[in-house]
Amino acid sequence: MRPPEQLIIRPPTEAGSLLIRVTRGCNWNRCKFCGIYGHFGQPDFETRSVSDVKRDILAARELWGSDWDSAFLGDADPMFIEPDDFAEILTFLRETFPALNRVTCYARASTCGKRRAHLARFHEAGLDRVHVGLETGSDALLRFHRKGASAKLFIESGLAVRQAGIERFLERPEPERARAYARQSVI
Ligand code: SF4
Repeated sequence: MRPPEQLIIRPPTEAGSLLIRVTRGCNWNRCKFCGIYGHFGQPDFETRSVSDVKRDILAARELWGSDWDSAFLGDADPMFIEPDDFAEILTFLRETFPALNRVTCYARASTCGKRRAHLARFHEAGLDRVHVGLETGSDALLRFHRKGASAKLFIESGLAVRQAGIERFLERPEPERARAYARQSVI
């Protein structure tokens, strides 16, 4: 059995998560301070087929069991793939790992905006959180770093994510879970 492909990076809060690779590298790849994917051998952005990702999900269950509490989808911008494909992957992941409490992914703010019409469907299919690298709220610094985003875009895409139901649970937190998030978020 071929082992699942592994991600290059994940957020600190996903240290204990099942890691599933949906895309390879970053579709933007221009931020001045970054270059992480190129540095670790993935200079180009590639999407993976749904069947390939599903094979990895099944291999992960066979290798590491099905008792996972959280899963993270990478690399930098998995929502960039076709919306139907992304929803299908989320549904399959949830079916294969029914114990999952939380599924998250990295996303660019611009992709959250482009996928606005599909965010509620992604949430219904099992997406609970997106990790977006804001870096700063200064438009001058965002331009300097070639981030490809503005403070306005961050606010609008963040609101779209919240309105779709993603991250909503933070408004009605289970106390212990919310405290755990707060502790992790300052790492
Ligand atoms: S969008 Fe993120 S991963 Fe892509 S180049 Fe910028 S910081 Fe790096």
